[in-house]
Amino acid sequence: MPTQTPALVAESAGAAFTTRLIERRDLRDDDVAIEIAYAGICHSDIHQVREEWGKASFPMVPGHEIAGVVTAVGAGVTAVQVGDRVGVGCMVDSCGECEFCKDGFEQHCTRGAVMTYNGIGYDGDPTLGGYSRSVVVSERFACPIPDGIGLDEAAPLLCAGITTYSPLRRWGVGPGSRVAVVGMGGLGHMGVKLAVAMGAQVSVLSRSDAKAADSLALGAVEHVATSDLATMKARRNYFDLVLNTVSADLDIELYLGLVKPRGVVANVGLPTDPYRVRPGRLIGTSKVLAGSNIGGIPETREMLAFCAEHKIGAQVETITADEVTEAYDKVVAGKVRYRYVIDVSTINAAQG
Ligand code: NAP
Ligand code: ZN
Repeated sequence: MPTQTPALVAESAGAAFTTRLIERRDLRDDDVAIEIAYAGICHSDIHQVREEWGKASFPMVPGHEIAGVVTAVGAGVTAVQVGDRVGVGCMVDSCGECEFCKDGFEQHCTRGAVMTYNGIGYDGDPTLGGYSRSVVVSERFACPIPDGIGLDEAAPLLCAGITTYSPLRRWGVGPGSRVAVVGMGGLGHMGVKLAVAMGAQVSVLSRSDAKAADSLALGAVEHVATSDLATMKARRNYFDLVLNTVSADLDIELYLGLVKPRGVVANVGLPTDPYRVRPGRLIGTSKVLAGSNIGGIPETREMLAFCAEHKIGAQVETITADEVTEAYDKVVAGKVRYRYVIDVSTINAAQG
């Protein structure tokens, strides 16, 4: 018999969240059941609930920044034990056999990775995410959370953390690198923390000076308001890597102008309009315009170890279940510092 668990549900596109029971499957041999403690609110949740990326699947239970404790394991589980603290990110299954899965890039699985919510499992059932009290996933996708990182500050690492860690690593950020992080939000503030810990000289490029003190406190050498045209001009051909985390459309050519010849603009922000880039702006100075999609499971585990070593967690504001609908508007308005996490013990629904 599948178990029932209280969850926050959007019944249709853009709907306010309501609380009701949802079902979690019986444990398969390789499954673990997790009592969730915290679920982060990623801007991707908002894009999907509001169908900003196209048609989505409803009823929807968002949440792909999950941290909790294992409460039961299937008969064949070997890597995780009851009582372990684990995190689940954007994926809950992949074929495990294609070249990308074998190389640790499950997000590019040729069969199609199963996303934690707004997806369809290989069993044909819709997936429901972490805004709930419990979840069941294959042990392959439950990443141990190292001691020393609280579950609240760990939850956002499972998306915001890995999504910024992966391009910083891929493009070789380290001592001597100049990195600009565009957008000081959930992803952006993690990008700053991680790039600083990797030894880079980090600049934050933001819409205003409102977050300047926070940028410097996180270790950035400067916080530049993009309206400060003199400083923006002085930063032309300056950075090795620009990491764009902005959730809205941007003038990408402006940011291409900020990287050195052969430099990289890596985009992780996911608005919907096409980029407008004249080929000459790439070719003339041999620049790279790149995208990056979360990160695979081996790299997620590596990122968690890196965070433990450098004592890095997300900067979070904890909210209750009844605050989530309003929190979406606050994220869009740029009011969160810097990630809302839901205390899922506040999600209560009558046992039916
Ligand atoms: P967030 O917390 O809302 O942060 C986005 C930041 O972008 C804001 O804090 C703001 O920074 C800036 N911004 C917002 N609106 C802007 C506008 N109109 N013009 C210029 N700047 C603006 O969002 P998030 O959770 O970090 O997610 C950011 C984006 O990454 C979303 O599109 C999300 O879907 C995407 N994402 C992608 C992946 C991936 O795998 N590639 C994974 C997760 C999320 P300032 O106030 O500093 O300007
Ligand atoms: Zn996310």
